[in-house]
Amino acid sequence: MSDAPDVGELRPPDRTLMGPGPSDVHPRVLRAMSTPLVGHLDPSFIEIMNEVQELMRYTFRTDNQWTIPVSGTGSASMEAAIGNLVEPGDTMLVPTNGYFGGRMASMAERAGGEVVTVDAPWGEPLEPAAVEEAISDTQPDVFGFVHAETSTGVLQPDVPELTEIAHDHDAIVVADCVTSLGGIELRVDEWGIDAAYAGPQKCLSCPPGASPLTLNDRAMEKVLSREEAPRSWYLDLSLLEGYWGEDRSYHHTAPITNVYAIREALRLVAEEGIEERWDRHRAVAGALKTGVEAMGLEMNPDDEYWLPSLNAVRVPDGVEDDAVIEHLLEEYDLEIAGGLGDLSGDVWRIGCMGHSARPKNVSFLLVALGNALT
Ligand code: PLP
Repeated sequence: MSDAPDVGELRPPDRTLMGPGPSDVHPRVLRAMSTPLVGHLDPSFIEIMNEVQELMRYTFRTDNQWTIPVSGTGSASMEAAIGNLVEPGDTMLVPTNGYFGGRMASMAERAGGEVVTVDAPWGEPLEPAAVEEAISDTQPDVFGFVHAETSTGVLQPDVPELTEIAHDHDAIVVADCVTSLGGIELRVDEWGIDAAYAGPQKCLSCPPGASPLTLNDRAMEKVLSREEAPRSWYLDLSLLEGYWGEDRSYHHTAPITNVYAIREALRLVAEEGIEERWDRHRAVAGALKTGVEAMGLEMNPDDEYWLPSLNAVRVPDGVEDDAVIEHLLEEYDLEIAGGLGDLSGDVWRIGCMGHSARPKNVSFLLVALGNALT
């Protein structure tokens, strides 16, 4: 047997997080995470669960009863939505215009579904006409789209139009709102979204661990009338109903500290006001965009589809994307990221999310990026 490892005290570097997530965590959220644990069935925790659900409904702009934090990262709330809504033999229509549409496809396949696609180039949103054509041709049971595509910095416009097309063909609509919830205008009920999932580590500025999910009655009806149980026991929403529904009975031990964290993060959203928060993201990221354009850099997406929470900036000819990323990290303790998939090497991804969406961060980033490029 080896000796006890000599591991020092935890001292992570003090980074400024302006990448695709996680974003800087608000100090109040960190404080909430250092408060004492209670049991996951303690009456005081039951009250906390109610509060989290109420705050989450406010943030999603929904009255959906079925609104919960899923234990795990954004991929867990994503798989809870897709793995429960897609039954073996169902068809799911997914987009091909970014990395996370591809992840939707993998999850739908693992759920036993048949995947069909609606196409648009990386860096562009889906066109309603293309969605109409794909839905008419394939008659999917479920239609998924990414509201804020983190890999391309593209915001999907025309959401109510897309959901109307899907509903005309009786498809359930699932929206990936991981990089929009709490930072970008999102109106689940008004826009006709049947199920939406998100992550806490982006515009909510909360550490990963408990991820928002909401389903309306129509979506929940499909889930509860499945012939076969979903393939994941852990993410089976009909079982999670026991814990997050009326009974509050044991299913798994909730990540209590993460629930505290998301409660505080959502409380910050409610204090600021959701619409004011959307405006702040636009204004602060707008300054970032103006600043990088003033340096002679170009945004990758057209202005029409610009996603304030994730700014995809084209890497100029002759510049090594990685060298700039490394320089910012080493010299400034500042995190940004490179491109993913089709855009690998072509763009930098600069996040402007939640507590990171502050004028002070933008000024810091512009100075650091300017220096890295000279
Ligand atoms: N969907 C989108 C749009 C994302 O940006 C991410 C993560 O970056 C995910 C899904 C998956 O979330 P996580 O990495 O927290 O599992």
